[in-house]
Amino acid sequence: MTTSEQLFEKAKTLIPGGVNSPVRAFRSVGGSPVFIKSAKGPYLYDEDGREYIELINSWGPMILGHAFEPVEKAVRDAIQYSFSFGAPTRKEVEMAELITNMVPSVEKVRMVNSGTEATMAAIRVARGFTGRDKIIKFEGCYHGHADSFLIAAGSGAMTMGIPDSPGVTKATAADTLTAPFNDLAAVEKLLDNNHNQVAAIILEPVVGNMGCVLPEPGFLEGVRSLCDKHDALLIFDEVMTGFRLAKGGAQERFGITPDLTTMGKIIGGGMPVGAYGGRADIMDIVAPAGPVYQAGTLSGNPIAMSAGLAMLHHLNDHPEVYTRLDQIGETLVNGFRASLVKLGLNYTINHIGSMFTLFMTERSVTNFTEAKSCDLPLFGRYFHAMLKRGVYLAPSQFESLFLSVALTDDLTAQIIQANEESLQEALAE
Ligand code: PMP
Repeated sequence: MTTSEQLFEKAKTLIPGGVNSPVRAFRSVGGSPVFIKSAKGPYLYDEDGREYIELINSWGPMILGHAFEPVEKAVRDAIQYSFSFGAPTRKEVEMAELITNMVPSVEKVRMVNSGTEATMAAIRVARGFTGRDKIIKFEGCYHGHADSFLIAAGSGAMTMGIPDSPGVTKATAADTLTAPFNDLAAVEKLLDNNHNQVAAIILEPVVGNMGCVLPEPGFLEGVRSLCDKHDALLIFDEVMTGFRLAKGGAQERFGITPDLTTMGKIIGGGMPVGAYGGRADIMDIVAPAGPVYQAGTLSGNPIAMSAGLAMLHHLNDHPEVYTRLDQIGETLVNGFRASLVKLGLNYTINHIGSMFTLFMTERSVTNFTEAKSCDLPLFGRYFHAMLKRGVYLAPSQFESLFLSVALTDDLTAQIIQANEESLQEALAE
């Protein structure tokens, strides 16, 4: 037994399913999860001393590679002044200023501790602002585990086969309307059938949580204008795409202005942080400026703010990071496509910038139904073949990969080679 296997056996007796977040358990790909001991730059190291090239990067935030020196230094510097005050700090002001500069649609912003908190608060604010109860979300989008979002949810919920979680009341579920991603007609129908009842439409402008799924041309524009027509707010959940697809997130890349934006991951530099923000007139209804309550003892935590500030300042001051991320993405995807051609395979790759997914299906993947057409046992074998070759992928077909600038040309070539061999191995079994 490896050390990871031993740890997993013990973990299962102490933690539900042995993990603190479901996808980590390798349920859909089979086998026992790898327990991580440390990471640096483009590499992860497990408890058995094995090295892996990182293609998840803590599900997004390690955009500059692991333990990036300026972030590490910022944390070390901050730690000597204590770890939490539960009182306002200079760093929170600096953080708010930086975020509002980088993401112009965000005029005011509130820090929270996770993406889940951010989306949960954003819909409360949307409901408070509009005086309406219902929200529209898209099938296969994941917005964290708050009750309202565990309806046709993507990510781990989709991977575990529980997109609609028990424990969510019928009343809550009834207020969440769902439409297929990229289907404007379905959205319009929901808005018409629920006239003056929809507070907000929330979506991942580029979906990461059913694998990487891009908005079709006109889709985001269409949702924006439907929101305007029906006086509903548009919420972009940029927990994955924020500060990754561009300095100003997917909204900058696609040129669409949402009313509210939710963010996470990257703004904490890997620390547990999220944020929501948007139009000042909307954000001013949040307590204590207004009546919509939302709070957090650890919100704006000084260590997390220090890590996040170091990360965001670096991204803000080095636009070449985004050019490089796009180049790495392009090289990898071109390499993967060339291997597919060579092997006579017609699988789908969805790609934008530093996010992509190889779907084990010949169908194009533009929504949840199409994503579900993938050959999951084949993906499981492919995942393990990659792991054996030292490449750490998301342990589910329904996730995007996230690249970091720490990937060198040599590593990119290694990944392309591993991908080709792994596909062959997975198909031969
Ligand atoms: N929104 C999106 C788009 C996400 O991808 C996630 C998590 N991956 C969340 C919200 C929830 O964030 P957290 O896991 O930090 O609660």
